[in-house]
This record gives sequence, C-alpha cells and structure tokens, in this order.
Amino acid sequence: MAKVFYDQDADLSYLQGKTVAVIGYGNQGRAQALNMRDSGLQVIIGSINDGSAERARADGFSVCSIPEAVRQGDVVSLLIPDEVQKTVYETDVRPNLAPGKVLDFAHGYNLRFGLISPPADVDVVMVAPRMIGVNVRKAFQRGNGVPAYVAVWQDVSGQAEQIALAIAKAIGTTRAGVIETTVAEETELDLFTEQAVWPIIMGSLLLASEVLVEAGFSPEMVALELYISGEASEIFRQMARVGFFEQLRYHSPTSRYGTLSRGERMLPDDVRERMRSVLREIRSGEFASEWEEEQKRGYPRLLELKKRTANHPIIRAERNVHRLIKIFLPE
Ligand code: NDP
Repeated sequence: MAKVFYDQDADLSYLQGKTVAVIGYGNQGRAQALNMRDSGLQVIIGSINDGSAERARADGFSVCSIPEAVRQGDVVSLLIPDEVQKTVYETDVRPNLAPGKVLDFAHGYNLRFGLISPPADVDVVMVAPRMIGVNVRKAFQRGNGVPAYVAVWQDVSGQAEQIALAIAKAIGTTRAGVIETTVAEETELDLFTEQAVWPIIMGSLLLASEVLVEAGFSPEMVALELYISGEASEIFRQMARVGFFEQLRYHSPTSRYGTLSRGERMLPDDVRERMRSVLREIRSGEFASEWEEEQKRGYPRLLELKKRTANHPIIRAERNVHRLIKIFLPE
C-alpha cells in the first residue's frame, strides 16, 4: 500500500526564510508560484525575458534571468517544458547551482533517463501534481488541492523528504493527499498512460467514427455521440468519483449489459502483449532515445503524424457540431 501524506504530515518551516526560485511561468510555473506565495513563501521567478515574464511581473513577482534566479534561490523549481530542461539546465542552472541547494522537478523524465544528472551536493526532489496547472491554482483558491506524487532522487541534507513535502503543502497538494513514489515509477507510469492507454481510447473513437460514417450515420451525430456531448468525459469523472464499475449505475440496464457483455470481444488478446512491449520500450530507454533523436532532427515524424490526424474527417464534423450546438462544459 502506497504511503500518503496530508497537510498535518508536512511542515512549511522547512521553507521559511528561504527563497524559492520558480524557473518558467507557464502551466505549472504560474500555478505553483502563486500558490507558494499565498502560502507565505518568498518566491521569485526566473525566466527568459518574454511573454510569460511579463505575466509574472503583472502578477506582482520579482522576475530575473534564469541564472540570477538560480543564484538567489535556495530551492530551484524547474518548471519549463521537459524537452528544453536539459539545455537550460546545462547552460543556466548547473553553473549557478551551489552546494546545499534543492532542485525540484514536477516530472521525472529528465532524471529517469539520465538527461540531467545533478551534482552530488544538492538535494533533488520531485513534486508532481496529477493535474494541469490551471486546476492546481483553482483548487487551491477554493481551499482544496489536487493529488500529487512526491519522490526524493538525492538526499544530501537528510531533509529532502521534508522539503519535498513542504513544497507539496505550499502548492496545496497535501490537502488532497500526496503519494510517496520514486522518480522512475512516476515517469514510467506517465509515459505508459500516454503511449499505451490514450492511443487505444483515442484510436477506438476515431475507428468507431469511420465505421459509423461508412455505415451511413451522420458525421455530426457521430462526433456528438462519441465525445462532444461531454458524456464520455462525465463517465471518466464518475469513475474517479465513485469507482470504475460503480459509475455504471448512472447508465441504463441496456447500456450496462451491452458494455459488459461485449467488453472482452472488443479488446483483442494481443493488446496485453502490445502494452507490455510499450512498457519495455519505456523502461529500457528505447523510447527516450527515439524521442531525443526526433527532437534533434526537428520533429519530422511528429509533424507528419500531426498532419495526418489534422485531416481526419471527424475534424470537419466537429466544427459543424460546434457551429450548431452550444456546449457548456467547464474549462
Ligand atoms: P509549460 O510549457 O507551460 O512551460 C512554459 C514556460 O517555460 C514558460 O514560462 C516559457 O517561457 C518557459 N520556456 C519555454 N521554453 C523555454 C526555454 N527554451 N528556455 C527557458 N524557458 C522556456 O510547461 P509545463 O508547466 O506544462 O511543464 C513544466 C513541468 O511540469 C514539466 O516537467 C511537466 O512535465 C510538468 N508537469 C506539467 C503539467 C501540466 O500542467 N502541463 C502537469 C504535471 C507536471 P515563455 O512563455 O516566456 O517563452
């Protein structure tokens, strides 16, 4: 059973009198910086001087260059996209990372795959909210929090876990509960969901739309039925709230019988083996090497894949539905 920490298990005094340098003011950077400041911490922003730096200044933060923020910060939260972290770390962070500082990540990718190897004299922790940044902020403002994972990658001070928990508390996540994990577990799980679960869900929706339109159903009805109405997202919401199977109680007996009786037939046996092979590619570092190569080459395959999906007929149907129907889903 995983170990879970709540507000009472975390102590903000591990961060009091210290400066937290948040590097990057995007999805997570803005939400975490605002929450930490509202929790009473001293927060500065390190940013390349463009759009998001302006936003940080407008929010009342002191903004400086990334090297300067790293020099001033006792805790350095690296909240820029994973793809640029290695370069920014090497040029701006590492040269300014004095012994005794704390390096904090919101996702373990660069640590797990050896793209960033921090020096042996700093604490390295991960506090990874399980939610997009805007909701990390909204939940905090409502007095709630979102769940998170915490992990210690390197503990030099002997206090790394307490510091990670203090960060988790300052951004509001211990209100919901944070699960103790490892950087490897968080990273591999995240990649597996992206690579083995979402392709099946998204692929099956696209395939279903093709089968239905080919059989004469109206493309707009199909798009509305499959996802635009929000029923699909409501099923996931209720799964999270009441349970995977319990949510079936919100559906008719016909729907329950249809879903359960056809379940096995719709998922071929070899999917299990395919999932295992995706997991093997993640764990061996094969995916990380492939992705690094793709980035070096300027994303040719990603652009090609995106071009292919952009031309799917469901996109046209989707636009038509949005013209015809008012959808009232919260942001
Ligand atoms: P964003 O894409 O929102 O980060 C944008 C910020 O990074 C902006 O301030 C941007 O500056 C800055 N930035 C972009 N490129 C560079 C660069 N080359 N050099 C310096 N700064 C740069 O990132 P996220 O918040 O989505 O992700 C941050 C971390 O949080 C990642 O590790 C991610 O995996 C993790 N995470 C993200 C979640 C999410 O909500 N998306 C959820 C949980 C974890 P500017 O705009 O000024 O160019």
